[in-house]
Amino acid sequence: MAKPKLAFYWAASCGGCEITITELGMQLAAVGKLVDIVFWPCIMDFKYSDVESMADGEIDVCFFNGGIRTSENEHIAKLLRQKSKLMVAFGACAHEGGIPGLANYYDPESILERVYDTSPSLDESAGTRPVPSTQMPEGEITLPTFYDRVKTLAQTVQVDYYMPGCPPVVDQVGAVFGALLEGKIPEPGAVIGADAKTNCDVCTRKKGPTGTRVKAFTRPHLIEADPEICFLEQGLICAGPATRAGCGLPCINGNMPCRGCYGPPDGVTDQGAKLLSALAAIIDAETPEDVQRIMDTVVDPVGTYYRFNLSDSILSELKYG
Ligand code: SF4
Ligand code: SF4
Repeated sequence: MAKPKLAFYWAASCGGCEITITELGMQLAAVGKLVDIVFWPCIMDFKYSDVESMADGEIDVCFFNGGIRTSENEHIAKLLRQKSKLMVAFGACAHEGGIPGLANYYDPESILERVYDTSPSLDESAGTRPVPSTQMPEGEITLPTFYDRVKTLAQTVQVDYYMPGCPPVVDQVGAVFGALLEGKIPEPGAVIGADAKTNCDVCTRKKGPTGTRVKAFTRPHLIEADPEICFLEQGLICAGPATRAGCGLPCINGNMPCRGCYGPPDGVTDQGAKLLSALAAIIDAETPEDVQRIMDTVVDPVGTYYRFNLSDSILSELKYG
């Protein structure tokens, strides 16, 4: 019997999703005996022409990580969609734009100016911008076009499954590979490798008496957090109330608040709005001025509420900050 064909691709992301797959170690070697990996340019010397030469639907499952920032990202997303029976948005960036999606808070010119003109690390190359096309003696060299915003994979092509996480934790990746190999195909559109509830539902930290109120928010490096007590009760912003469970709480167990990388749980459209609502419920405010004063203690509000999901939020169509 022919082995299932898998593909992996890395678009606008940091590469952590690819590292998670390699962390499967011997489990990956076992999977490798059961499948044909027909495209994985991060690991082996595959070419785009290898994909172009495949029949439509020839790849059984494509695990696509990263958002869509450039014309190259979009081209390959469409090509892999055409060649794949199932397309998985793998990791927070493909799922919801991820950290790269925070750049949507700025207009493209500001981003280019910062990166190529004013960044303190630049040497004499300051002010040199990449251009889409350069004529050389050997012919024309082209670069992908930089789009004006980061899109999610589902804002670009039809997606069959979503696998959250920055990156998805390795146990969940192994479980998903195992389930797919056993022919356990979830409902179309499902979030896989995660749970339906929130991190608060599975977190065992002690909650204080009902009605605990916070007078100001602080940050993890400014206090010594009690490892037994809910972060919110200590004035530390934890995205647990607005975040899908399934990661095993590595951050919380390491005494760091959840940042929200597993995205919103079932029934929540906008993770940032949900987190904001959770914080509003615990502040010690009697007047609008109290509300303003306490919420002003949140450093980097957009990066706090929408750290991983600005591209997929209700703010996604707003123009730049
Ligand atoms: S807010 Fe964070 S620390 Fe508190 S119960 Fe929820 S997940 Fe646990
Ligand atoms: S605790 Fe939160 S930030 Fe950490 S891995 Fe889990 S979902 Fe992601």
